[in-house]
Amino acid sequence: MNCEVLKIKINSKLAAKLAAMFIVISLVLCSCSLSINTDSDTESKTTPTSGTLSVHYLDVGQGDSIFIELPNQKCMLIDAGENMYGKSITEYINNLGYQKIDYLVATHPHADHIGSMAYVVKHNDIGEIYMPKVATTTKTYENLLNAISDKGLKVKSAKAGMNIVDDNDFSINILAPVTIEEDDLNNCSIILKMNYKSDSFLFLGDAEKKELETVTADMSAEVLKVGHHGSRTSTTKALLEEVNPKYAVISLGKNNSYGHPHKSTLKLLDEFGVETYRTDEDGTIVISTEGSGVTIKTGQTSMKRDE
Ligand SMILES: [Zn+2]
Repeated sequence: MNCEVLKIKINSKLAAKLAAMFIVISLVLCSCSLSINTDSDTESKTTPTSGTLSVHYLDVGQGDSIFIELPNQKCMLIDAGENMYGKSITEYINNLGYQKIDYLVATHPHADHIGSMAYVVKHNDIGEIYMPKVATTTKTYENLLNAISDKGLKVKSAKAGMNIVDDNDFSINILAPVTIEEDDLNNCSIILKMNYKSDSFLFLGDAEKKELETVTADMSAEVLKVGHHGSRTSTTKALLEEVNPKYAVISLGKNNSYGHPHKSTLKLLDEFGVETYRTDEDGTIVISTEGSGVTIKTGQTSMKRDE
């Protein structure tokens, strides 16, 4: 054996020893932090499950609020209902074990979508915030912008073609707005598509026919969050032909003054053989998947109005 080879052998022995020491130190440190975590955890909280995507269509009466547990252990909130549900939405999220909302999406600045969002921003750690680039003059909208700037957060202007998440088998893509209609907030709605292995979800906000016709990306999805609370202005034959959903969820309040869901919407969904769920009848609806077929739970906790 020549000297050069010997040197390498000695060095690799030393490296192996150092590596072993490093592993031992890491294990000690790791078990310390684990025990610290265990001590500080409250019993009611569970750790988010890795690998499962769970979409919670929260029952917030006439409005939208959808909380999503992502398979990468992060989470997302799309909309936050009218202004009396902030506490209830926050408790629901915290009880699932989440202390931070990684992605917050305000589909459009109407009160039945952003009403409780200022509360949510004030009372939770927030990651990225997405909104369409359109302003309105309401107090609710102003409160939200103030809550965002008070925390030093920035808003990302959502536009078709952006990706919120783009992993190998999991993605969240923004399909709309393609264009901004200053005086037509519904038709500035952020439209999101979420793909997880063989399953896909489409979220339309309150987009109506006018906006839906501008979308050029593929809208096909297994689960459709029906646009604009089941209004006939959103659900058309052309849309259902394009999306071709197996399941649909309508988010709305009992006996609402808009007559939602419109009869023609329910009729169309029925004609297309779509299994339809609605928050006014089914309460909070949770659709979960590991990426190969969904399971649906109804009658989950409805959001209480704040006192
Ligand atoms: Zn709405």
